[in-house]
Amino acid sequence: MINQSQPPAHPLPLQLHLETVAVAAGRPEQVVDAPLNPPVVFASTYIGAHDISAAKIGYGRYGNPTWQALEQTIGALEGGNALTFASGMAAAHAVLELMPTGGVIVIPHNCYLGVAEAIDRRAARGGWQVRRVNIADTTEVLAAADGADMVWIESPTNPTIEVADLPTLGNSLSPSSVFVVDNTFATPLLQRPLESGADIVLHSATKLLSGHSDVVLGAIVTRIDDTQTFQGLDAIRRSFGASPGPMEAYLALRGLRTLPLRIAQAQASAQVLAERLAAHESVMQVRFPGLPTDPGHDVARRTMSGFGSLISIDLADATTADAFVDGCSLWVFATSLGGVESTLERRRRWKSELQSIPEGLVRLSVGIEHVEDLWSDLAQALDHL
Ligand code: PLP
Repeated sequence: MINQSQPPAHPLPLQLHLETVAVAAGRPEQVVDAPLNPPVVFASTYIGAHDISAAKIGYGRYGNPTWQALEQTIGALEGGNALTFASGMAAAHAVLELMPTGGVIVIPHNCYLGVAEAIDRRAARGGWQVRRVNIADTTEVLAAADGADMVWIESPTNPTIEVADLPTLGNSLSPSSVFVVDNTFATPLLQRPLESGADIVLHSATKLLSGHSDVVLGAIVTRIDDTQTFQGLDAIRRSFGASPGPMEAYLALRGLRTLPLRIAQAQASAQVLAERLAAHESVMQVRFPGLPTDPGHDVARRTMSGFGSLISIDLADATTADAFVDGCSLWVFATSLGGVESTLERRRRWKSELQSIPEGLVRLSVGIEHVEDLWSDLAQALDHL
């Protein structure tokens, strides 16, 4: 095996605006006839060297120039060092490998069900104590974090769109707890958890980062000064073989180039749609931090630079929610989220979804279509209930 890898260099000055970073990071060196953007490199095998330390990649499971370009870009956006993985779940499992046997982990009551399941499965085998918290209640999180080895926050949460006060948590948590933030819903455009004291940022890059519903990919970002955690996670990726495919990395970087434009459009539409949904008589509750009445509004205003493009609504019951989903035609009935296409689903249709999620909750992922077309489709489906 080659020497432990070093975090990628950041060739871009970090004071650039994030909109610029999204477009310009990870480019090949600008020499005559070089491609402007990194090409996709399909290789399992690289030319070797007797002195192993002379090799920067060594083998296709350890690295790839296309992943590295994507990692430079995600790292520059989050302000840390990134590693990409075959999926968000592969990235999550790599982080959970850092938990000691018999350790204590704090996790959200409401979060992505795949992560909740993974933690439960590992907890049973690893003898972990799992403390579940309302991530929007900072006092509750801090009390539960006493003596914890890891504090895992997802914010905003999937699918309840609750918001955590990341800066206060980061300031107050003990350095002995690894502070992990799943930033899938906000993206680095809306919040940069490493600046708030997080040790590790996690992404399902399948979602907004890639943005076109054509890639499954994950990422982890560690602090610039924390080479040890970076190398530990890199070693786990190598050992598990949880490496991304080069084509996926290429597509993700291509999608990432337009992240700021997509977010700007989608969250502007989300604000309009959330306000109209809140005024509709069939909608019992709208969960969107952009609404002044939302419990997460004040924290989101203080800690985030936008409210995002995910909305959840509570309808009367499962039957009503299913009829609403079926009544939409422009909105696509699908799981996953964060694409240019607007999608929606009733989350409890998944038998494994957390029991704390209401039966009639429908999660809406707002895309970049015209907002009036999106509203007409929702309004006619609601009016027919
Ligand atoms: N984290 C969050 C918040 C998610 O929504 C998801 C997937 O929906 C994941 C992690 C897992 O990511 P992936 O599906 O890319 O494995």
